Amino acid sequence: MNASEVLKEYFGYDSFKPGQEEIIESIIKGRDVLAIMPTGAGKSICYQVPAMLLPGITIVISPLISLMQDQVGALNEAGIHAGYINSSLTESQISKVYERAREGTYKILYVAPERLESYDFTSFASKTEISMITVDEAHCISQWGQDFRPSYLKIVDFIDSLKHRPIVSAFTATATTEVKTDISCILKLKDPKVVITGYDRENLYFDVVNTRKKSDYVLDYIGKHPNDSGIIYCATRKNVDELYDKLLNQGVSVARYHAGMANEDRKVSQDDFIYDRSPVIIATNAFGMGIDKSNVRFVIHYNMPQSMENYYQEAGRAGRDGEPSRCILLFSPQDVMIGKFLLDHKDFTDIPEDDAELIRQRDARRLQVMEGYCRTSGCLRNYILEYFGEKRTAPCDACGNCHREYTEIDMTMEAKSVINCV
Ligand code: ADP
Ligand code: MG
Repeated sequence: MNASEVLKEYFGYDSFKPGQEEIIESIIKGRDVLAIMPTGAGKSICYQVPAMLLPGITIVISPLISLMQDQVGALNEAGIHAGYINSSLTESQISKVYERAREGTYKILYVAPERLESYDFTSFASKTEISMITVDEAHCISQWGQDFRPSYLKIVDFIDSLKHRPIVSAFTATATTEVKTDISCILKLKDPKVVITGYDRENLYFDVVNTRKKSDYVLDYIGKHPNDSGIIYCATRKNVDELYDKLLNQGVSVARYHAGMANEDRKVSQDDFIYDRSPVIIATNAFGMGIDKSNVRFVIHYNMPQSMENYYQEAGRAGRDGEPSRCILLFSPQDVMIGKFLLDHKDFTDIPEDDAELIRQRDARRLQVMEGYCRTSGCLRNYILEYFGEKRTAPCDACGNCHREYTEIDMTMEAKSVINCV
């Protein structure tokens, strides 16, 4: 089989999305890859298809348990042999996975980065033909990235420990120049094929709404779009609970999700949302990484996020199916205070003071950029794209700021025609 046949046979797609084919071809030829593609661009396929075509097994390093479970579930349903090893499994379940992997049952094995250090894993790896190591959410390796995970730094030691160096492919949605360089250097990528697809998501309409009456706005929005699925992101658990209660009091039933809830409750909320039993979910940013729900029609940010990276990733969960969708940020000056408060209380244990100071400075800068987005009167899409290094000058005509001008012009025309009639 070739790549297109695998795509059709296992995933049911007729054609590749931008960037996918190029990446897959490079990997199959044995070249390292660094791919930077926005959320929803289809990064998983870029390593899953070659995994099916390479001789041995592909190890995918992934930061989140829920993400692994979802992906493996979907792969198994598609008829692809895949497994995962993480702390949600018992010792005996883990032994079974190793056993199957050694027998060559799996083409793809997902692991958490911490696992790479364990004796079980390294001894398994030394006896197995590993064709590729894939690092998903690769920005986690950089201290300049949003979700730095020290355990990601261990990946390269693991790769170095292998007798035969496998192909290494790294994927991320959010990478500024520093993060890009970090990924490439820290993972010691060898002459990698770097693929950066455009950051723009054309089907997303961006808007910033200046308001202190945020819950009224949300109620009104849901009332006007009763059949739409959407995510409402709040900065804190308390905000989530308050908004949840308010909506409930008004007879609007929604799901909620934050790290303070019991695991089972979170799972129920997530499933209710994914299977459209509750089309709307209110959540902190603990919700969403790896969630693949295609028909999310709106993402409302109840508070300003901490950075453009966060915002674009979260807002980007709207419209994965390519249909028109809205990303609305509800802004009030108080959000800037909340943002600063959260930064002041960020946990820097285990991070050397010099690094911590640099991170603080960068965080503060990120917050400023985000505030700039909320206050700009220019094209919102261009503001985002420029931050990620894509320069555009023409207004997009699909954001609140571009449209405000147009609406004004329209209204003047209407007014004129009224006057003419009189
Ligand atoms: P990412 O990891 O880049 O955010 P995913 O890998 O989760 O994105 O894929 C996003 C969605 O795009 C998924 O629903 C996936 O099935 C779909 N998808 C991926 N590749 C294709 C393709 N070639 N044609 C159509 N849909 C695709
Ligand atoms: Mg992904």
